[in-house]
Amino acid sequence: MTESTGESGGAPGGREPLVVLTDVEKYFGDLHVLQKINLSIGRGEVVVVIGPSGSGKSTLCRAINRLETIESGTITIDGVPLPEEGKGLARLRADVGMVFQQFNLFAHKTILENVTLGPTKVRKVPAAEARQRGMELLKRVGVDSQAEKFPAQLSGGQQQRVAIARALAMNPKVILFDEPTSALDPEMVNEVLDVMVDLARQGMTMVVVTHEMGFARKAANRVVFMSDGQIVEESDPDTFFTNPTSDRARDFLSKIL
Ligand code: ADP
Ligand code: MG
Repeated sequence: MTESTGESGGAPGGREPLVVLTDVEKYFGDLHVLQKINLSIGRGEVVVVIGPSGSGKSTLCRAINRLETIESGTITIDGVPLPEEGKGLARLRADVGMVFQQFNLFAHKTILENVTLGPTKVRKVPAAEARQRGMELLKRVGVDSQAEKFPAQLSGGQQQRVAIARALAMNPKVILFDEPTSALDPEMVNEVLDVMVDLARQGMTMVVVTHEMGFARKAANRVVFMSDGQIVEESDPDTFFTNPTSDRARDFLSKIL
C-alpha cells in the first residue's frame, strides 16, 4: 500500500481556501476540547483527521457546521463566517454535508425520500426534479434498487451509502465524515470507502475522521493528527504513517497499526 495521490503537507497546497478555522477555542465546562485550532481546507482537498478517542475530532466536525458553538475564534465557509443562528445559518449548513457514524437516516421515510427531503424543503427544488436527481445519486452509490424501501430494510453499508447520497443531494461545498465506517460490520467497510474514494477523485472537498489508513493513503491530500484538543501534527499521508514526528502521533500509531 504505497500508492498515494497526496501532495506534500502543510497548507492547502496552492488551493483556494474553502473552510478556514482561525484560533478556534471550545470548552465543555472545564474541558478545553478545542485549543487554538488553526486549519485551512482547500477547495477539492481531502483532509483525514485522526487521533485518539476524546481528542476532539467530532467536536471539530460539529463546530464546522455549527452543531456546536465555539467560545472564540472564527470559522468561515467559502469566505462567509458561520452566523450564530437564523436563515444565514440554515443556508450555510446546507453547504456543509455531514455523514455520521450512525447513518442518522429518517426511519419513517423511504430511501428516496431521505434523499429528496433536503433539496425540496431547504433548496426548494421541485419534487419531480428532486426525485430524478435523487435516483441518479442513489445509482451513483449503488443503492438505486432500494429506493422504495425503508432504512431498516437495508444493510449498514447500504444505509451509509444512502447517507452519502443524501449529503450529495444538497450540492454541498464540503462534506464532513465522522467515522463513517466505525459502526459497520467489517465486510461492509469497503463498499462505503469505495464510494468515498470516488468522491475524492471527483474533486469533492472532504474532511474525514477515520482510522482507515487505506483510505487515507488512497484519497487524502493531508492527514491532521489531533490529541487532547490540539492539532499536533499535519502532513501528507505517506509521511504521517511512515515517519510521524511527534511522540503522541508515534504512540497513537503504534497502538492502531
Ligand atoms: P473524539 O471525536 O475525538 O473522540 P469528541 O470531540 O467526541 O472526541 O470529544 C472530545 C471530548 O469532549 C471528550 O472528552 C468528550 O467526552 C467531551 N465531550 C464531547 N461532547 C461533549 C458534550 N456535549 N458535553 C460535555 N463533554 C463533551
Ligand atoms: Mg468522535
